[in-house]
Amino acid sequence: MKYYLAFENPTEQLIHVKIASSGTRQAVIFHLPKWRPGRYELQRFDRRLADVEAVSADGAPLEVIRLSTHSWQVFASEGELFYMKYSYYANVLDGGGSFFDKERIYVNGINLLMYREELLHEACELYLRLPGEGYEVACGLQKVADHWLAKDFHQLVDAPFLAGRDLLHHVFDVKGVRTHLWFQGECQPEFRRLEREIKAYSEVQMDLFGEFPVDEYHYLFVIRPDLFRHGVEHYNSTVIAIGPGYRINQKELNRALVEVCSHELFHSWNVKAIRPQDMLPYDYGKENYSRLHYVTEGATTYYGDLMIWKGGDWKMHQWVQSLNAVLKRFYSRGGKDYTSLSQASIESWVNAYNLTGTPNRQISFYTKGCLVTFLLDIEIRRLTRNAHSFDDVMYHLYHDFAKKGKGYEEKDVKNIIEELSRQDFTDFFKKYIHGTYELEPALQAAGAYIGLEMQRHPFDSLAISFFGLEVNEKEKHSCLVENIYPNSPALKAGLSRGDEILSINGLKVQANVEHLIKHLGADRELEIHYFHLGKLQRTLISRGNYFRYIPQLAEVHDPTERQLENRQRMKQVKLRKQIQNQLIK
Ligand SMILES: [Zn+2]
Repeated sequence: MKYYLAFENPTEQLIHVKIASSGTRQAVIFHLPKWRPGRYELQRFDRRLADVEAVSADGAPLEVIRLSTHSWQVFASEGELFYMKYSYYANVLDGGGSFFDKERIYVNGINLLMYREELLHEACELYLRLPGEGYEVACGLQKVADHWLAKDFHQLVDAPFLAGRDLLHHVFDVKGVRTHLWFQGECQPEFRRLEREIKAYSEVQMDLFGEFPVDEYHYLFVIRPDLFRHGVEHYNSTVIAIGPGYRINQKELNRALVEVCSHELFHSWNVKAIRPQDMLPYDYGKENYSRLHYVTEGATTYYGDLMIWKGGDWKMHQWVQSLNAVLKRFYSRGGKDYTSLSQASIESWVNAYNLTGTPNRQISFYTKGCLVTFLLDIEIRRLTRNAHSFDDVMYHLYHDFAKKGKGYEEKDVKNIIEELSRQDFTDFFKKYIHGTYELEPALQAAGAYIGLEMQRHPFDSLAISFFGLEVNEKEKHSCLVENIYPNSPALKAGLSRGDEILSINGLKVQANVEHLIKHLGADRELEIHYFHLGKLQRTLISRGNYFRYIPQLAEVHDPTERQLENRQRMKQVKLRKQIQNQLIK
Protein backbone atom coordinates (compact mmCIF):
# COMPACT_ATOMS: atom_id res chain seq x y z
CA MET A 1 0.00 0.00 0.00
CA LYS A 2 1.18 3.48 -0.79
CA TYR A 3 0.15 6.37 1.44
CA TYR A 4 0.45 9.99 0.29
CA LEU A 5 0.07 12.79 2.82
CA ALA A 6 -0.21 16.38 1.59
CA PHE A 7 0.05 19.41 3.86
CA GLU A 8 -1.46 22.34 2.01
CA ASN A 9 -3.58 24.50 4.23
CA PRO A 10 -2.10 25.00 7.71
CA THR A 11 -4.81 27.37 8.93
CA GLU A 12 -7.52 24.86 8.18
CA GLN A 13 -5.33 22.17 9.79
CA LEU A 14 -6.40 19.53 7.29
CA ILE A 15 -4.05 16.77 6.22
CA HIS A 16 -4.98 15.34 2.83
CA VAL A 17 -4.58 11.59 2.68
CA LYS A 18 -4.45 9.53 -0.51
CA ILE A 19 -4.07 5.75 -0.52
CA ALA A 20 -3.20 3.88 -3.71
CA SER A 21 -5.00 0.57 -3.90
CA SER A 22 -6.46 -1.86 -6.38
CA GLY A 23 -9.84 -3.52 -6.77
CA THR A 24 -10.48 -7.17 -5.98
CA ARG A 25 -13.24 -9.58 -6.83
CA GLN A 26 -14.87 -8.80 -3.51
CA ALA A 27 -15.77 -5.31 -2.38
CA VAL A 28 -12.81 -3.36 -1.04
CA ILE A 29 -13.23 -2.27 2.56
CA PHE A 30 -11.06 0.33 4.28
CA HIS A 31 -10.92 0.59 8.06
CA LEU A 32 -9.76 3.41 10.27
CA PRO A 33 -8.19 2.25 13.57
CA LYS A 34 -10.62 2.31 16.51
CA TRP A 35 -7.90 2.83 19.11
CA ARG A 36 -4.20 3.43 19.34
CA PRO A 37 -1.67 1.13 21.03
CA GLY A 38 -0.54 2.67 24.31
CA ARG A 39 -4.01 3.87 25.20
CA TYR A 40 -6.45 1.10 25.85
CA GLU A 41 -9.75 2.77 25.10
CA LEU A 42 -11.84 3.26 21.97
CA GLN A 43 -11.21 6.50 20.10
CA ARG A 44 -13.22 8.47 17.59
CA PHE A 45 -10.57 9.40 15.04
CA ASP A 46 -13.36 8.96 12.48
CA ARG A 47 -15.00 12.16 13.69
CA ARG A 48 -12.02 14.11 12.36
CA LEU A 49 -12.37 12.65 8.88
CA ALA A 50 -13.96 14.57 6.01
CA ASP A 51 -14.32 14.63 2.24
CA VAL A 52 -14.03 10.87 1.79
CA GLU A 53 -13.99 9.89 -1.88
CA ALA A 54 -12.47 7.32 -4.22
CA VAL A 55 -11.25 7.99 -7.74
CA SER A 56 -9.89 5.81 -10.50
CA ALA A 57 -6.35 6.26 -11.89
CA ASP A 58 -7.66 8.72 -14.48
CA GLY A 59 -9.57 10.72 -11.88
CA ALA A 60 -13.07 9.38 -12.48
CA PRO A 61 -15.13 9.13 -9.28
CA LEU A 62 -15.90 5.68 -7.88
CA GLU A 63 -18.77 4.83 -5.60
CA VAL A 64 -17.83 4.78 -1.94
CA ILE A 65 -20.20 4.15 0.95
CA ARG A 66 -19.68 4.40 4.66
CA LEU A 67 -20.45 1.09 6.39
CA SER A 68 -19.92 2.08 10.00
CA THR A 69 -18.16 4.62 12.17
CA HIS A 70 -14.77 3.28 11.11
CA SER A 71 -15.21 1.54 7.74
CA TRP A 72 -15.86 2.46 4.11
CA GLN A 73 -16.54 0.33 1.06
CA VAL A 74 -15.23 1.18 -2.40
CA PHE A 75 -16.63 -0.22 -5.62
CA ALA A 76 -13.75 -0.79 -8.04
CA SER A 77 -13.30 -3.45 -10.71
CA GLU A 78 -10.97 -6.34 -10.10
CA GLY A 79 -7.35 -5.28 -10.64
CA GLU A 80 -8.29 -1.63 -11.18
CA LEU A 81 -5.89 0.89 -9.63
CA PHE A 82 -7.70 3.57 -7.64
CA TYR A 83 -7.15 6.11 -4.88
CA MET A 84 -8.97 6.39 -1.58
CA LYS A 85 -8.92 10.07 -0.56
CA TYR A 86 -9.95 12.01 2.51
CA SER A 87 -8.95 14.85 4.82
CA TYR A 88 -8.06 14.61 8.49
CA TYR A 89 -8.49 17.49 10.89
CA ALA A 90 -5.18 17.56 12.81
CA ASN A 91 -5.25 19.75 15.88
CA VAL A 92 -4.40 17.50 18.84
CA LEU A 93 -1.06 18.33 20.40
CA ASP A 94 -0.68 15.52 22.91
CA GLY A 95 1.50 12.40 22.87
CA GLY A 96 -0.91 10.41 20.72
CA GLY A 97 -2.47 12.99 18.40
CA SER A 98 -1.68 14.73 15.13
CA PHE A 99 -1.19 18.43 14.56
CA PHE A 100 -0.64 20.67 11.56
CA ASP A 101 -0.21 24.42 11.39
CA LYS A 102 2.20 26.80 9.70
CA GLU A 103 5.02 25.93 12.10
CA ARG A 104 4.46 22.31 12.97
CA ILE A 105 3.70 19.04 11.32
CA TYR A 106 3.23 16.19 13.76
CA VAL A 107 1.57 12.96 12.68
CA ASN A 108 0.57 9.76 14.41
CA GLY A 109 -0.42 7.53 11.50
CA ILE A 110 -2.71 5.48 13.75
CA ASN A 111 -5.06 8.51 13.89
CA LEU A 112 -5.61 8.86 10.19
CA LEU A 113 -4.32 6.00 8.06
CA MET A 114 -6.89 3.50 6.84
CA TYR A 115 -6.04 -0.14 6.30
CA ARG A 116 -7.40 -3.12 4.43
CA GLU A 117 -7.68 -6.09 6.78
CA GLU A 118 -6.35 -8.56 4.20
CA LEU A 119 -3.30 -6.39 3.44
CA LEU A 120 -2.19 -5.65 7.01
CA HIS A 121 1.03 -7.60 6.52
CA GLU A 122 2.06 -6.03 3.23
CA ALA A 123 4.87 -3.51 3.04
CA CYS A 124 3.81 0.15 3.08
CA GLU A 125 5.34 3.23 1.51
CA LEU A 126 4.81 6.70 2.90
CA TYR A 127 5.11 9.80 0.69
CA LEU A 128 4.95 13.31 2.12
CA ARG A 129 4.14 16.50 0.23
CA LEU A 130 5.43 19.16 2.61
CA PRO A 131 4.38 22.81 2.39
CA GLY A 132 7.73 24.04 1.07
CA GLU A 133 11.50 23.71 0.98
CA GLY A 134 13.81 23.26 3.93
CA TYR A 135 11.70 20.78 5.88
CA GLU A 136 13.39 18.15 7.98
CA VAL A 137 11.56 14.94 8.93
CA ALA A 138 12.11 13.09 12.21
CA CYS A 139 10.82 9.53 11.97
CA GLY A 140 11.83 6.02 12.99
CA LEU A 141 11.03 4.56 9.56
CA GLN A 142 13.72 3.82 7.02
CA LYS A 143 13.99 6.39 4.23
CA VAL A 144 14.45 5.11 0.68
CA ALA A 145 14.86 7.71 -2.05
CA ASP A 146 11.78 9.96 -1.82
CA HIS A 147 9.71 7.94 0.60
CA TRP A 148 9.69 6.04 3.88
CA LEU A 149 9.32 2.30 4.10
CA ALA A 150 7.46 0.14 6.65
CA LYS A 151 7.48 -3.64 6.62
CA ASP A 152 3.75 -3.70 7.30
CA PHE A 153 0.84 -1.54 8.45
CA HIS A 154 1.69 -2.23 12.12
CA GLN A 155 5.11 -0.68 11.68
CA LEU A 156 3.76 2.20 9.60
CA VAL A 157 1.35 3.33 12.31
CA ASP A 158 3.92 2.70 15.04
CA ALA A 159 6.21 5.34 13.56
CA PRO A 160 4.98 8.85 14.30
CA PHE A 161 6.88 11.72 12.71
CA LEU A 162 7.63 15.41 13.08
CA ALA A 163 8.37 17.69 10.16
CA GLY A 164 9.46 21.27 10.32
CA ARG A 165 11.97 23.89 9.29
CA ASP A 166 13.29 24.47 12.78
CA LEU A 167 13.50 21.07 14.43
CA LEU A 168 16.28 20.88 17.01
CA HIS A 169 18.29 17.70 16.62
CA HIS A 170 20.95 16.06 18.76
CA VAL A 171 22.50 12.63 18.16
CA PHE A 172 24.59 10.34 20.34
CA ASP A 173 25.23 6.64 20.84
CA VAL A 174 24.30 4.54 23.84
CA LYS A 175 26.12 1.22 23.81
CA GLY A 176 26.19 1.40 20.03
CA VAL A 177 22.52 2.36 19.67
CA ARG A 178 22.17 5.59 17.73
CA THR A 179 19.89 7.85 19.77
CA HIS A 180 18.19 10.91 18.30
CA LEU A 181 16.63 13.76 20.26
CA TRP A 182 14.24 15.87 18.18
CA PHE A 183 12.51 18.95 19.55
CA GLN A 184 9.64 20.79 17.89
CA GLY A 185 8.31 23.97 19.47
CA GLU A 186 9.66 26.86 21.50
CA CYS A 187 12.49 25.70 23.82
CA GLN A 188 16.26 25.70 24.24
CA PRO A 189 17.19 22.30 25.64
CA GLU A 190 20.59 21.73 27.22
CA PHE A 191 21.62 18.84 25.03
CA ARG A 192 24.78 17.93 26.89
CA ARG A 193 22.93 17.49 30.15
CA LEU A 194 20.09 15.55 28.52
CA GLU A 195 22.56 13.28 26.79
CA ARG A 196 24.19 12.47 30.13
CA GLU A 197 20.84 11.87 31.85
CA ILE A 198 19.46 9.72 29.04
CA LYS A 199 22.63 7.69 28.71
CA ALA A 200 22.65 6.88 32.43
CA TYR A 201 19.26 5.13 32.57
CA SER A 202 19.51 3.72 29.02
CA GLU A 203 22.72 1.86 29.79
CA VAL A 204 21.31 0.08 32.84
CA GLN A 205 18.10 -0.76 30.97
CA MET A 206 20.19 -2.33 28.22
CA ASP A 207 22.24 -4.16 30.86
CA LEU A 208 19.09 -5.54 32.44
CA PHE A 209 17.92 -7.13 29.19
CA GLY A 210 21.35 -7.77 27.70
CA GLU A 211 20.43 -5.99 24.46
CA PHE A 212 18.22 -3.37 22.83
CA PRO A 213 15.43 -4.65 20.56
CA VAL A 214 16.03 -2.10 17.76
CA ASP A 215 19.15 -0.56 16.28
CA GLU A 216 18.27 3.10 16.61
CA TYR A 217 15.90 5.17 18.71
CA HIS A 218 14.17 8.53 18.27
CA TYR A 219 12.80 10.75 21.03
CA LEU A 220 10.26 13.07 19.40
CA PHE A 221 9.59 15.96 21.79
CA VAL A 222 6.43 17.91 21.10
CA ILE A 223 6.92 21.09 23.10
CA ARG A 224 3.84 22.87 24.37
CA PRO A 225 3.47 26.35 25.88
CA ASP A 226 1.49 25.09 28.88
CA LEU A 227 2.08 22.72 31.79
CA PHE A 228 1.86 19.31 30.19
CA ARG A 229 3.38 15.86 30.32
CA HIS A 230 2.39 12.88 28.17
CA GLY A 231 4.44 10.17 26.50
CA VAL A 232 3.56 7.36 24.13
CA GLU A 233 5.80 4.43 23.26
CA HIS A 234 6.51 3.17 19.75
CA TYR A 235 8.56 0.54 17.96
CA ASN A 236 11.83 2.50 17.78
CA SER A 237 10.67 5.89 18.95
CA THR A 238 8.54 7.74 21.44
CA VAL A 239 6.53 10.94 21.35
CA ILE A 240 6.79 13.02 24.47
CA ALA A 241 4.51 16.03 24.66
CA ILE A 242 5.75 18.30 27.41
CA GLY A 243 5.65 21.91 28.52
CA PRO A 244 5.99 24.74 29.10
CA GLY A 245 8.98 24.87 26.78
CA TYR A 246 10.59 27.85 28.51
CA ARG A 247 10.96 25.74 31.67
CA ILE A 248 12.50 22.72 29.98
CA ASN A 249 15.87 23.18 31.73
CA GLN A 250 14.41 23.95 35.14
CA LYS A 251 14.78 21.29 37.81
CA GLU A 252 11.16 20.26 38.08
CA LEU A 253 10.32 19.97 34.39
CA ASN A 254 13.69 18.42 33.61
CA ARG A 255 12.94 15.75 36.19
CA ALA A 256 9.51 15.12 34.70
CA LEU A 257 11.04 14.88 31.24
CA VAL A 258 13.69 12.36 32.29
CA GLU A 259 11.05 10.29 34.11
CA VAL A 260 8.84 10.11 31.02
CA CYS A 261 11.85 9.36 28.78
CA SER A 262 13.00 6.47 30.96
CA HIS A 263 9.45 5.08 31.15
CA GLU A 264 9.03 5.21 27.38
CA LEU A 265 12.41 3.64 26.67
CA PHE A 266 11.55 0.74 28.99
CA HIS A 267 8.48 0.16 26.82
CA SER A 268 10.85 -0.69 23.92
CA TRP A 269 11.12 -4.04 25.64
CA ASN A 270 8.02 -4.11 27.81
CA VAL A 271 4.97 -3.99 25.48
CA LYS A 272 6.66 -3.19 22.17
CA ALA A 273 8.52 -6.53 22.35
CA ILE A 274 7.23 -8.30 25.48
CA ARG A 275 3.52 -8.41 24.69
CA PRO A 276 0.56 -10.10 26.38
CA GLN A 277 -0.73 -12.90 24.17
CA ASP A 278 -4.14 -11.26 23.88
CA MET A 279 -2.67 -8.16 22.20
CA LEU A 280 -0.47 -10.00 19.72
CA PRO A 281 -0.86 -8.82 17.05
CA TYR A 282 -2.87 -5.67 17.76
CA ASP A 283 -6.38 -5.67 16.34
CA TYR A 284 -7.23 -2.06 15.50
CA GLY A 285 -10.82 -2.94 14.73
CA LYS A 286 -11.98 -3.65 18.27
CA GLU A 287 -11.07 -3.60 21.96
CA ASN A 288 -7.97 -5.68 22.76
CA TYR A 289 -8.71 -6.84 26.30
CA SER A 290 -5.88 -7.86 28.58
CA ARG A 291 -5.70 -8.52 32.30
CA LEU A 292 -1.98 -7.83 32.17
CA HIS A 293 -1.63 -4.06 32.13
CA TYR A 294 -0.08 -4.31 35.59
CA VAL A 295 2.89 -5.68 33.66
CA THR A 296 2.72 -3.51 30.53
CA GLU A 297 2.18 -0.25 32.42
CA GLY A 298 2.65 -1.09 36.11
CA ALA A 299 6.09 -2.65 35.74
CA THR A 300 7.07 0.08 33.27
CA THR A 301 6.06 2.77 35.75
CA TYR A 302 8.11 1.03 38.44
CA TYR A 303 11.17 0.53 36.25
CA GLY A 304 11.03 3.91 34.54
CA ASP A 305 11.89 5.57 37.85
CA LEU A 306 13.94 2.77 39.38
CA MET A 307 16.34 2.76 36.43
CA ILE A 308 17.15 6.45 36.93
CA TRP A 309 18.37 5.55 40.42
CA LYS A 310 20.15 2.44 39.17
CA GLY A 311 21.78 4.48 36.42
CA GLY A 312 23.25 6.80 39.02
CA ASP A 313 21.51 10.01 38.00
CA TRP A 314 19.36 9.93 41.13
CA LYS A 315 20.18 9.33 44.76
CA MET A 316 18.00 6.79 46.52
CA HIS A 317 15.84 9.45 48.15
CA GLN A 318 14.92 10.80 44.72
CA TRP A 319 13.67 7.40 43.67
CA VAL A 320 11.74 7.09 46.95
CA GLN A 321 10.23 10.50 46.19
CA SER A 322 8.88 9.13 42.91
CA LEU A 323 7.54 6.01 44.60
CA ASN A 324 5.82 8.28 47.12
CA ALA A 325 4.23 10.25 44.29
CA VAL A 326 2.79 6.96 43.02
CA LEU A 327 1.57 6.08 46.52
CA LYS A 328 -0.09 9.46 46.77
CA ARG A 329 -1.85 9.02 43.43
CA PHE A 330 -3.02 5.53 44.38
CA TYR A 331 -4.32 6.46 47.81
CA SER A 332 -5.99 9.64 46.54
CA ARG A 333 -8.43 7.66 44.45
CA GLY A 334 -11.52 6.16 45.98
CA GLY A 335 -11.58 2.79 44.22
CA LYS A 336 -8.83 0.83 45.94
CA ASP A 337 -11.22 -1.27 48.03
CA TYR A 338 -13.50 -2.03 45.11
CA THR A 339 -11.54 -2.77 41.95
CA SER A 340 -8.67 -5.22 41.55
CA LEU A 341 -5.65 -4.73 39.38
CA SER A 342 -6.59 -7.31 36.76
CA GLN A 343 -10.15 -5.97 36.68
CA ALA A 344 -8.87 -2.41 36.21
CA SER A 345 -6.78 -3.72 33.35
CA ILE A 346 -9.83 -5.06 31.51
CA GLU A 347 -11.84 -1.99 32.44
CA SER A 348 -9.30 0.38 30.91
CA TRP A 349 -11.65 0.12 27.92
CA VAL A 350 -14.47 1.36 30.11
CA ASN A 351 -13.07 4.19 32.15
CA ALA A 352 -9.39 4.08 33.07
CA TYR A 353 -8.59 7.40 31.49
CA ASN A 354 -11.50 9.48 32.64
CA LEU A 355 -13.61 9.09 35.70
CA THR A 356 -16.99 9.79 34.20
CA GLY A 357 -18.46 6.46 35.31
CA THR A 358 -19.39 5.55 38.87
CA PRO A 359 -17.35 7.74 41.23
CA ASN A 360 -14.78 6.15 43.55
CA ARG A 361 -14.74 2.73 41.98
CA GLN A 362 -11.81 2.96 39.54
CA ILE A 363 -8.15 2.48 40.20
CA SER A 364 -5.18 3.05 37.93
CA PHE A 365 -3.18 0.02 36.80
CA TYR A 366 -0.21 2.38 36.44
CA THR A 367 -0.07 3.20 40.14
CA LYS A 368 -1.21 -0.07 41.70
CA GLY A 369 0.76 -2.00 39.07
CA CYS A 370 3.88 -0.07 40.05
CA LEU A 371 3.35 -0.74 43.76
CA VAL A 372 2.69 -4.44 43.19
CA THR A 373 5.82 -4.72 41.03
CA PHE A 374 7.75 -3.14 43.90
CA LEU A 375 6.32 -5.79 46.26
CA LEU A 376 7.22 -8.59 43.86
CA ASP A 377 10.70 -7.21 43.27
CA ILE A 378 11.45 -7.08 46.99
CA GLU A 379 9.76 -10.41 47.73
CA ILE A 380 11.88 -12.22 45.13
CA ARG A 381 14.98 -10.52 46.52
CA ARG A 382 14.06 -11.53 50.05
CA LEU A 383 13.34 -15.14 49.15
CA THR A 384 16.53 -15.54 47.11
CA ARG A 385 18.83 -13.47 49.35
CA ASN A 386 19.22 -10.95 46.54
CA ALA A 387 20.25 -13.55 43.97
CA HIS A 388 17.17 -12.75 41.87
CA SER A 389 14.64 -9.98 41.47
CA PHE A 390 11.86 -8.79 39.19
CA ASP A 391 14.68 -7.75 36.82
CA ASP A 392 15.01 -11.47 36.05
CA VAL A 393 11.27 -11.76 35.40
CA MET A 394 11.54 -9.00 32.78
CA TYR A 395 14.68 -10.59 31.37
CA HIS A 396 13.00 -13.97 30.93
CA LEU A 397 9.82 -12.48 29.48
CA TYR A 398 12.01 -10.83 26.89
CA HIS A 399 14.31 -13.73 26.03
CA ASP A 400 11.89 -16.64 26.43
CA PHE A 401 8.82 -15.02 24.92
CA ALA A 402 9.37 -11.76 23.01
CA LYS A 403 12.49 -12.94 21.23
CA LYS A 404 10.76 -16.13 20.19
CA GLY A 405 7.84 -14.18 18.78
CA LYS A 406 5.51 -15.40 21.53
CA GLY A 407 3.10 -13.45 23.67
CA TYR A 408 2.92 -14.22 27.39
CA GLU A 409 0.06 -15.00 29.71
CA GLU A 410 -0.37 -14.44 33.41
CA LYS A 411 0.62 -18.00 34.21
CA ASP A 412 3.94 -17.39 32.46
CA VAL A 413 4.69 -14.40 34.67
CA LYS A 414 3.69 -16.39 37.75
CA ASN A 415 5.77 -19.39 36.66
CA ILE A 416 8.90 -17.31 36.20
CA ILE A 417 8.44 -15.70 39.61
CA GLU A 418 7.89 -19.09 41.25
CA GLU A 419 10.85 -20.71 39.54
CA LEU A 420 13.12 -17.87 40.56
CA SER A 421 11.96 -17.79 44.15
CA ARG A 422 10.98 -21.45 44.62
CA GLN A 423 7.87 -20.23 46.38
CA ASP A 424 4.15 -20.42 45.62
CA PHE A 425 2.72 -16.99 44.68
CA THR A 426 -0.93 -18.06 44.31
CA ASP A 427 -1.89 -16.23 47.48
CA PHE A 428 -0.03 -13.09 46.41
CA PHE A 429 -1.83 -12.99 43.04
CA LYS A 430 -5.14 -13.62 44.75
CA LYS A 431 -4.70 -10.81 47.25
CA TYR A 432 -2.97 -8.06 45.32
CA ILE A 433 -3.65 -8.72 41.64
CA HIS A 434 -7.09 -10.33 41.54
CA GLY A 435 -8.25 -8.97 44.87
CA THR A 436 -8.41 -5.69 46.72
CA TYR A 437 -6.44 -6.74 49.78
CA GLU A 438 -4.95 -3.70 51.54
CA LEU A 439 -1.42 -3.05 50.27
CA GLU A 440 -0.11 -1.00 53.18
CA PRO A 441 1.24 -3.78 55.47
CA ALA A 442 3.00 -5.46 52.55
CA LEU A 443 4.46 -2.14 51.41
CA GLN A 444 5.67 -1.50 54.91
CA ALA A 445 7.43 -4.87 55.05
CA ALA A 446 8.91 -4.41 51.56
CA GLY A 447 10.18 -0.96 52.50
CA ALA A 448 11.80 -2.30 55.68
CA TYR A 449 13.84 -4.72 53.56
CA ILE A 450 15.78 -1.78 52.13
CA GLY A 451 15.65 0.48 55.18
CA LEU A 452 12.50 2.46 54.45
CA GLU A 453 9.83 3.09 57.04
CA MET A 454 6.17 3.74 56.43
CA GLN A 455 4.75 7.05 57.55
CA ARG A 456 1.17 8.20 57.37
CA HIS A 457 0.70 11.64 55.87
CA PRO A 458 -2.53 13.60 55.80
CA PHE A 459 -3.91 14.79 52.48
CA ASP A 460 -3.00 18.34 51.54
CA SER A 461 -6.62 19.12 52.29
CA LEU A 462 -8.06 18.91 55.83
CA ALA A 463 -11.53 18.45 54.36
CA ILE A 464 -10.39 15.24 52.69
CA SER A 465 -8.21 14.02 55.54
CA PHE A 466 -10.89 14.40 58.19
CA PHE A 467 -14.22 14.21 56.39
CA GLY A 468 -13.52 12.54 53.03
CA LEU A 469 -14.88 15.68 51.41
CA GLU A 470 -13.35 17.15 48.29
CA VAL A 471 -14.58 20.56 47.19
CA ASN A 472 -14.08 22.77 44.20
CA GLU A 473 -13.73 26.45 45.03
CA LYS A 474 -12.34 27.62 41.73
CA GLU A 475 -15.31 29.89 41.19
CA LYS A 476 -14.75 32.46 43.92
CA HIS A 477 -18.34 32.63 45.10
CA SER A 478 -19.25 28.99 45.05
CA CYS A 479 -18.05 25.89 46.82
CA LEU A 480 -19.17 22.73 45.07
CA VAL A 481 -18.78 19.20 46.39
CA GLU A 482 -16.53 17.51 43.86
CA ASN A 483 -16.10 14.13 45.49
CA ILE A 484 -17.20 12.23 48.57
CA TYR A 485 -15.04 9.30 49.58
CA PRO A 486 -16.73 5.95 50.29
CA ASN A 487 -17.63 5.36 53.96
CA SER A 488 -16.63 8.90 54.85
CA PRO A 489 -18.09 11.24 57.50
CA ALA A 490 -19.19 13.52 54.63
CA LEU A 491 -21.16 10.68 53.06
CA LYS A 492 -22.75 9.80 56.40
CA ALA A 493 -23.69 13.46 56.86
CA GLY A 494 -25.74 13.23 53.68
CA LEU A 495 -23.67 15.34 51.31
CA SER A 496 -23.60 14.41 47.60
CA ARG A 497 -21.54 15.33 44.59
CA GLY A 498 -22.64 18.63 43.12
CA ASP A 499 -24.06 20.04 46.37
CA GLU A 500 -23.22 23.69 47.00
CA ILE A 501 -21.86 24.44 50.47
CA LEU A 502 -22.95 27.84 51.79
CA SER A 503 -21.70 28.02 55.36
CA ILE A 504 -19.87 26.14 58.09
CA ASN A 505 -20.97 26.92 61.65
CA GLY A 506 -22.77 29.95 60.29
CA LEU A 507 -19.68 31.39 58.64
CA LYS A 508 -19.93 32.12 54.95
CA VAL A 509 -17.92 29.84 52.65
CA GLN A 510 -15.99 31.78 50.01
CA ALA A 511 -12.85 30.04 48.74
CA ASN A 512 -11.91 29.44 52.38
CA VAL A 513 -13.08 25.94 53.37
CA GLU A 514 -9.62 24.89 54.51
CA HIS A 515 -9.19 28.04 56.59
CA LEU A 516 -12.60 27.65 58.17
CA ILE A 517 -11.99 24.02 59.14
CA LYS A 518 -8.65 24.97 60.63
CA HIS A 519 -10.18 27.91 62.46
CA LEU A 520 -13.14 25.98 63.83
CA GLY A 521 -11.17 22.84 64.60
CA ALA A 522 -11.67 19.67 62.64
CA ASP A 523 -12.09 17.71 65.87
CA ARG A 524 -15.44 19.34 66.53
CA GLU A 525 -18.83 18.67 65.10
CA LEU A 526 -19.46 21.17 62.33
CA GLU A 527 -22.78 22.49 61.10
CA ILE A 528 -23.05 22.80 57.35
CA HIS A 529 -25.69 24.61 55.32
CA TYR A 530 -25.84 23.70 51.66
CA PHE A 531 -28.02 23.54 48.57
CA HIS A 532 -28.97 20.15 47.18
CA LEU A 533 -30.70 20.54 43.81
CA GLY A 534 -31.51 24.12 44.70
CA LYS A 535 -33.10 23.24 48.05
CA LEU A 536 -31.57 24.50 51.31
CA GLN A 537 -30.35 21.75 53.64
CA ARG A 538 -28.62 21.54 57.00
CA THR A 539 -26.42 18.78 58.37
CA LEU A 540 -23.89 18.03 61.09
CA ILE A 541 -20.57 16.52 60.24
CA SER A 542 -18.11 15.03 62.69
CA ARG A 543 -14.97 13.01 62.57
CA GLY A 544 -13.24 10.44 64.68
CA ASN A 545 -9.58 10.13 63.84
CA TYR A 546 -8.10 10.77 60.45
CA PHE A 547 -10.62 9.46 57.99
CA ARG A 548 -7.93 8.94 55.38
CA TYR A 549 -4.20 9.35 55.08
CA ILE A 550 -1.50 8.68 52.51
CA PRO A 551 1.16 6.08 53.26
CA GLN A 552 4.62 7.45 52.42
CA LEU A 553 8.03 5.77 52.61
CA ALA A 554 11.05 7.44 54.17
CA GLU A 555 14.61 6.33 54.75
CA VAL A 556 15.19 5.17 58.33
CA HIS A 557 17.82 7.12 60.27
CA ASP A 558 19.94 4.16 61.29
CA PRO A 559 19.69 1.39 58.69
CA THR A 560 21.14 -2.01 59.67
CA GLU A 561 24.06 -3.57 57.82
CA ARG A 562 21.62 -5.96 56.20
CA GLN A 563 19.36 -3.14 54.99
CA LEU A 564 22.34 -1.28 53.52
CA GLU A 565 23.50 -4.44 51.80
CA ASN A 566 19.99 -5.05 50.37
CA ARG A 567 19.87 -1.47 49.09
CA GLN A 568 23.23 -1.83 47.45
CA ARG A 569 22.22 -5.08 45.77
CA MET A 570 18.96 -3.54 44.61
CA LYS A 571 20.77 -0.65 42.98
CA GLN A 572 22.95 -3.01 40.94
CA VAL A 573 21.96 -4.49 37.62
CA LYS A 574 23.53 -7.89 37.30
CA LEU A 575 25.46 -9.09 34.32
CA ARG A 576 22.87 -11.05 32.46
CA LYS A 577 24.98 -13.62 30.66
CA GLN A 578 25.78 -15.27 34.00
CA ILE A 579 22.22 -16.30 34.70
CA GLN A 580 21.15 -17.15 31.20
CA ASN A 581 21.82 -20.87 31.39
CA GLN A 582 20.83 -21.25 34.97
CA LEU A 583 17.09 -20.89 34.77
CA ILE A 584 13.89 -21.82 33.02
CA LYS A 585 14.14 -25.13 31.30
ZN1 LIG B 1 3.52 3.64 29.63
